[in-house]
Amino acid sequence: MDAIAAAQALSEIGYLLRQDPKESFRAKAFSKAAWTLALERPDLDALHQANKLTSIEGVGAGIAKILAGLVETGRSSYLERLRAETGQPARDDESTIDLSSYQGDLHSHTDWSDGRATMLEMARGAKALGYRYLGITDHSPRIKVVNGLDAERLLAQSREREKVEQEVEGLALLQGIEVDILEDGALDLPDVVLELLDIVIASPHVKLRQEPTAMTERMLRAVSNPNVDVIGHPTGRRPGSREGATYDFERVFREAAAHGVALEIDCDPARMDLSPEQARLALELGCTFSLDADAHAPAEFAYVPMAAWMPRRAGIPMDRILNFRPLEALTMIAK
Ligand SMILES: [Zn+2]
Ligand SMILES: [Zn+2]
Repeated sequence: MDAIAAAQALSEIGYLLRQDPKESFRAKAFSKAAWTLALERPDLDALHQANKLTSIEGVGAGIAKILAGLVETGRSSYLERLRAETGQPARDDESTIDLSSYQGDLHSHTDWSDGRATMLEMARGAKALGYRYLGITDHSPRIKVVNGLDAERLLAQSREREKVEQEVEGLALLQGIEVDILEDGALDLPDVVLELLDIVIASPHVKLRQEPTAMTERMLRAVSNPNVDVIGHPTGRRPGSREGATYDFERVFREAAAHGVALEIDCDPARMDLSPEQARLALELGCTFSLDADAHAPAEFAYVPMAAWMPRRAGIPMDRILNFRPLEALTMIAK
């Protein structure tokens, strides 16, 4: 069993445990251990043989036992029991996701807003993973607590982007923004600014408890803005702690498909948004997807491999996921 496959099993266990608020502490422990595995990729067979699985950071006796089961049998009876208990069994039509074909992450933050690393550090991290491109998508002005970017700061950021691109060869940096979807569905930056950017991710961050009819109108307006490429973490949920927005998913997803707007599967373990169930609905309605870490530091790029069980469970074929397309095929760049 390789570390990434094990990371996905632990990530799924963490996700399923989050459904029960009483388990939130254990859920986080599993997500954390999954992240360590995805980041450091230890040789699990060797560690198991030497009886040293607990030497992995964040792996105590309980998680080690599950890892031992995974190494020995390729499966986890605990995970299977949790799936049965939560009514989320594995499915026959799961897709195959070949992570070695992953071309780049479209959604990331730098210290221009609330990221914890510089653009150069983020670019080097992406390059080290073999990515061909990285979307630099800091927050828009409305998110004041994180120093969101207005037009003037975006222009300044574009100069830094040019420098960093020269320094990190072979990696394209997409100049973008994670623009807030305001309460009425307007976006937090004017169209004249948005249309200059390579990638626009529009995300709901506030007023997620809006009444469903108003929320539906809000999301419909966002997906029909011609500058929007991706809807970021489409419900804003935080499994186990915050319910996401409720709206007419079928209508909004259908509209997203019609406008060629991708829906994100945000792999941050605190988000996991869209859920596999909602992603499956979106798939049936013809949507494309963006599989992103929403990384705020280079280490968080590892959220994608650990959460890759989500698109698999949703049955999404790789050709519907933007991140498996080469840069030239990302139509939004020219849009
Ligand atoms: Zn966001
Ligand atoms: Zn973000």
